[in-house]
Amino acid sequence: MSAHTKLYEGKAKIIYPTDDPQIFLAVFKDDATAFNAQKRGSIQGKGAINCSISSKLFQELEARGIKTHFIDSPAPNQMRIEAVKILPLEVVVRNIAAGSLCQQTGLALGTVLKQPLVEFYYKNDQLGDPLLTRDRLFLMELATVEQVNKITHLALQINEFLKEFFQQCDITLVDFKLEFGLNSQQELLLADEISPDTCRLWDIAAGNDPNRRVLDKDRFRRDLGNVEDAYQEVLRRVLKAVERE
Ligand code: 5GP
Repeated sequence: MSAHTKLYEGKAKIIYPTDDPQIFLAVFKDDATAFNAQKRGSIQGKGAINCSISSKLFQELEARGIKTHFIDSPAPNQMRIEAVKILPLEVVVRNIAAGSLCQQTGLALGTVLKQPLVEFYYKNDQLGDPLLTRDRLFLMELATVEQVNKITHLALQINEFLKEFFQQCDITLVDFKLEFGLNSQQELLLADEISPDTCRLWDIAAGNDPNRRVLDKDRFRRDLGNVEDAYQEVLRRVLKAVERE
């Protein structure tokens, strides 16, 4: 496995081919970026932590009948995954108003939404991942009507599981981003990762303290410090919750 064999390098992961064309190897990096890569840094141990959290969550979802790209994890920062073609969509599910929802609507941070909100963003760094309307999504043929309906259904199912799971970890799941891909049989699989890089996670024990409660990438985005500790803490609680099951 050498640098020149990589298939793709993203902001948080490198994807390598394997001897089996149906299987890729994802290597999770410690690199951290925010605000469309305008802010760059590194979080020590992040690759292994995010890979471990994602692996556990993907296995839990698989056990509940949700198909993911996860195969196994041969090393703490490595995941063997089914080869998929990623749809250029970022699927965001929100339970509580935060981040761009507050910025774009004026809703107060922390407003509990009456029902989960599922949103589609165009995964395109050059354009800054803009929010899509359904009509724009179809205009650009980013997915079919059937795929959008299926993704919406899956995103809500995944939210129900994750909300409950994180509750057991004494964590409030505020919002998160999912990506989906198609395998060689054109089956839709949950892909990418589910980690403190892609979720907003608030520590219930910290109450309403807007800084202390943050256990996710907002610590890096907002320079709150102790980023690595927060990620470690999420991993510790996830492992404990899985053990308890
Ligand atoms: P927002 O739209 O408020 O910035 O993000 C909503 C949720 O989706 C947050 O949990 C955020 O971490 C996640 N998210 C949205 N876009 C991205 C992205 O490009 N990369 C990552 N890692 N997470 C994202």
